[in-house]
Amino acid sequence: MSGLLVVGDVVTDVVARHGTPLAPATDTAAAIRMLPGGAGANAACWAARAGWADVRMLGRVGTEAAEWHERALRRAGVRPMLVEDADAATATVIALVDASAERTFLTDSGAALRLSPGDWSDSFLDGVAHLHLSGYLFFAAPGRATALRALRAAREAGVPVSVDPASTGFLKQLGVDRFLADAEGAAVLFPNADEARLLTGCGEPEQAAGVLSRAFPLVAVTLGAAGALVAEAGSVTGRVAAPAVRAVDSTGAGDAFTGAFLAARLAGADPTTAAAAGCRAGAEAVTVVGGRPAEDTPGRAPGPRPLSPRP
Ligand code: ADP
Repeated sequence: MSGLLVVGDVVTDVVARHGTPLAPATDTAAAIRMLPGGAGANAACWAARAGWADVRMLGRVGTEAAEWHERALRRAGVRPMLVEDADAATATVIALVDASAERTFLTDSGAALRLSPGDWSDSFLDGVAHLHLSGYLFFAAPGRATALRALRAAREAGVPVSVDPASTGFLKQLGVDRFLADAEGAAVLFPNADEARLLTGCGEPEQAAGVLSRAFPLVAVTLGAAGALVAEAGSVTGRVAAPAVRAVDSTGAGDAFTGAFLAARLAGADPTTAAAAGCRAGAEAVTVVGGRPAEDTPGRAPGPRPLSPRP
């Protein structure tokens, strides 16, 4: 059993970098790129990038971009398990990035919100050692029902589950208590500092990490350029600094942390060592445009050796 199964969002990111302020009602020149993204799919790609060979991604996409997303996942070393939706387009995010790297998003969740319990089969857990659920699943009724079903099936099968709370805005809409009740039974929680504060009402991430680790056995709180904290059984048990890098785009930093952390844990690392791997991946993520690892190109250092044998 070596599989890492990620369930969550697959998104088409349209990233428009404009050097001058947006000029309403006329043209603004921009460098525009269409990139594969989505918190769940990004985390899967970063786990593969960190060397885990058996990574699988379950998500729902529109027919128009299904093939493109499948190819991108395969190139990243992830086995796509994509459900094609003929009635909704692939989730699309338009990211407007100004000269100071400040980002504004326009979000159309499209097919990603329509992942439904009918798309799930308990047999998806065959050969799976860990299930990761993107928090975005919990913010729409079909996704939430799917996540709860997958979580229950994984618990019954003895497969540990991790959850990324994903978004303070959506957490507020759903309700913190409801999210915490939904995620109950997860073995690992991956909030960033803002999410950890929101989920606990604590002002300090250290305190929040401790509180959350009374409900979830292992909590890794990411702190942006300040690195990450690990907490277990009510107290902080590890602190890791982030490598210093020149950030160009913070999209996917948390997803990179999650993917690399899970890959390291699956390979047998202790939580603090896994957090260090997560921080290295997070630092790498902020140096590239988009939320996925840069694809290997001639002249670029190859990715790390596989942590597990190729199946
Ligand atoms: P999220 O994207 O979920 O908000 P964070 O911003 O906390 O997550 O970033 C996740 C991880 O990425 C951090 O723990 C850190 O290791 C790394 N990281 C983020 N921003 C930077 C940065 N500016 N420099 C170096 N590492 C960073």
